Parts: sequence; C-alpha cells; structure tokens
Amino acid sequence: MYYPFSWLKTLSRLALYFLAVSLFGLYVDKLPEALALGAFLLLVMQYWSFYRLNRWLWHSKKMTPPKTRGIWEHIYEGIYYLQRRNRNKRKELGALVKRFREGAEALPDAAVVVDANACIVWCNRLARIELGLCWPDDAGRRIDNLIRHPQFIQFFHDGEYSYPIEVISPTNIDKVLEYRIMPYGDKHLLLVARDVTRVSQLEEMRKDFVANVSHELRTPLTVLNGYLEMFGNEGDHYPPAFMQKAFTEMTAQTRRMQSLIEQLLILSRIEASAERVYEKIVDVPMVLSAIKSEAATLNQAKQHEIEFDVDKDLKVFGIETELRSAFSNLIFNAIHYTPKKGKIRVTWKLVNKMAEFAVEDNGDGIAEKHLSRLTERFYRVDKARSRKTGGSGLGLAIVKHVLTHHNSKLEIESEVGKGSRFSFHFSSELTVVNSHAGKSE
Ligand code: ADP
Repeated sequence: MYYPFSWLKTLSRLALYFLAVSLFGLYVDKLPEALALGAFLLLVMQYWSFYRLNRWLWHSKKMTPPKTRGIWEHIYEGIYYLQRRNRNKRKELGALVKRFREGAEALPDAAVVVDANACIVWCNRLARIELGLCWPDDAGRRIDNLIRHPQFIQFFHDGEYSYPIEVISPTNIDKVLEYRIMPYGDKHLLLVARDVTRVSQLEEMRKDFVANVSHELRTPLTVLNGYLEMFGNEGDHYPPAFMQKAFTEMTAQTRRMQSLIEQLLILSRIEASAERVYEKIVDVPMVLSAIKSEAATLNQAKQHEIEFDVDKDLKVFGIETELRSAFSNLIFNAIHYTPKKGKIRVTWKLVNKMAEFAVEDNGDGIAEKHLSRLTERFYRVDKARSRKTGGSGLGLAIVKHVLTHHNSKLEIESEVGKGSRFSFHFSSELTVVNSHAGKSE
C-alpha cells in the first residue's frame, strides 16, 4: 500500500530511537558509548536494507519488493511503482506494434522496412512469398543482396523514388512486380511490391490489338493505294482486262476492310453490352432457318452437303443479335474451312435438360497446339488461307464473348484429317422447351 512520505514522521522516529538509546545509556551510565552503538546499529540497518534492495533488483525473480519499514519502504515502493508503470507502457507499446504488424500483414502487397544501411528491419508475409525473403533469417541483411535484379538495384541506389518500376518477380519469371519505395522517419525506407502481372498482360494485349488492327487495315489500303497511284498518272491507258482485275481486287479489299470494321464493332458492342440475358426469349429455330438460307448462298461455290437437325420447340433466354452472330460464325467457318463437297451437320437439341448447339464438319481439322488459342483475337491457323476466305481472325473471338455473356463456353474437338466439332450449351435456367413437343426439320 502507498503511504505518502512525511519528513515529520521520519525525523520523529529518528528522535524516538535516539531518545531510547540515550535513556538506555543514562540507565547503564554509559551515554556516549550507547549513542555510538545506536548510531552504529542504525548504520548496519541502512546497509542491510541497501543490500536487500540490491539483491531484489539484480538477483530476485520476485516482482514485489521485500517487506521493510520506514524510509526504505518508500524507496522500495517507488521503484516498484516505476517498474509497474514501465511494464504497462511496454505492454501498450507491444500491443501497438502487434496491431501495426497485423495491419501490414493484411496489406495486399509485399512490404519491407529497410534501415539507413539498406538492411532489412522487418517484412510481411507477402514479402516472404513474392520476394522470397526468409524471416527472421534475412533480418539485418542488405535488401540489394537479396533482390538482385539489375533494374531494381539501380532504382534502389538512384534514390529517385517519385515513380515506381516494373520488374520480373525474383521468385517467378512469369510474374511482373511493381516496386515503390517510400522514405520515412530516420532514413528508413518502406519498400512495397505489388503483383501487376494482369495489368501488364492487358497492356500487352492492348498494344497487340492496336498493332493487329493497323496491320489488317494496312494491307488492303496498300493494294488500293497502289492502284490509285497508277491511275493517277495522266495519259496512261490500261487494257480493259487489267482494269477489270483492278476493279475486282479493289472491291474485294474494300469489302475486307468493311467486314473487319463490322466485326470490330460487333466485338466492342458485345464487350460493352449491358443487356440482360434473362429478359427475352430467342426463337433459335427461326434464327437458324434464316442462317440456313444465307449458308445455302455461301455454299454455292463449295457444294457441301449441309444438314440441319433442329429441335423446333427449343428456345433460349438470350440476346438475339449476339446469338445470331455466334451461330453464323461457326456455320460459315465450317463452310469456309472444309474442302469442296464436304459434309457439315448443324444440330440444335436438348441434351441433359440443356440446349446444345453443335457444328460438325469433315474438313482438314485443326492441330491440337492451335485449339487453345483459336478464340484469341486475330489468331488464325493459316493466315494466307484465312485471308483468302475473307476471314479477319475475329470470328471465334466474337463467339467466345457472346458465350461468356450467356454463361456458356465454346468447346472445340478437332482431329487433323478427320474434321472438327464446335459446340456449346446453355444452362437449364436459360433453356426454354415448348410443351407441345415435336421435332426436327
Ligand atoms: P477467321 O475470321 O479467320 O475465320 P475465326 O476466329 O473465325 O477467324 O477462326 C480462327 C481460325 O480457326 C481460322 O483462321 C481457321 O484457321 C480456324 N477454323 C475455324 N473454324 C474452323 C473449321 N471449322 N475447320 C478448320 N479450321 C477452322
């Protein structure tokens, strides 16, 4: 218990002590000796208390001070009080650091604290995963000895931290990390690394896309330009057969550009479309019957045998323009890429309560290595042949987008020399079957 220190009490106690000693001295008639002995005993007691304090401070494991009385009790209690206050402060500080570390652990980025000598002071869990740091083994080691990428080292030593850099991850060469450095406090640095692989891939795709579109448009424009320059020379006369060829060529190239731009517009419209798939029912048999007549016109040159097996009572919830585009792309591709007098079969039927659309052909088929890339924009197995058919390389990309919008996925089975099968199905929630069942065309 804490008693306030009182000089009066302390001096009264001392006076009482010496009074008792003096009375004893007078009683034995040896006052000076008694006083000397009393003073000596007092000194021994002080040294004893001092010895106990020292033992408690340095050698005892007990938190509470030893019991004593008088002036030493105040000293013991005072030290005990200061110790308790320090312990509580340390606890509060520890809890604060713990909360800060938990916060930093929850960051979606890798974070490393580095001191003025570039040595690691602390790092979070993501830094261990993304940067391959070992904790606590790497504590105190230089960060530029652990992240060895030359671009990072230059960035780290330049001291110009106002912009971030993008560097390949030290743990995975397929990943790109964005490093940011923020100086703070006593020449400390906070290094934050974020996984930007997806962003940089998107950026790459955007660049590729622009390059591809420019390339696709440049080729027909070069042809047109060539002819126009020739015709621009006054006085030159060309034979009618040449003029006819130039006219046919220019018309074909203009159509190619037109079709490319139309396909691009369709693609961007589908990407930006906010139309809801669940609102309208699409009469797929009707859409397929319109495509069938278009296919017949397109088939005149190739004379394929085209069979349509359509369940007339099967409809789906969806967006008609988009689905028309997906169906026709697959059917027209089969016509384009199957050698003359081939066999093509289009089916629209119910399979496991789900509407399924499939186009099969007995064409040349597609090698396995191309299959996973077919739906990429501008991807073509045989560029020259595809151009001849007027293909832009966007058809299957459009199909993929349409199907994603309808929660479906394009499935491609193909074998070189045997043919291909492109199919997809709609979930049972999107499938609509008319009650009066009847079938086939
Ligand atoms: P394109 O506009 O060039 O036809 P697509 O995206 O529609 O582009 O098709 C991509 C590529 O897939 C085509 O270039 C072609 O090589 C191949 N392909 C598509 N359908 C078939 C098919 N039925 N048979 C063989 N190859 C096909």
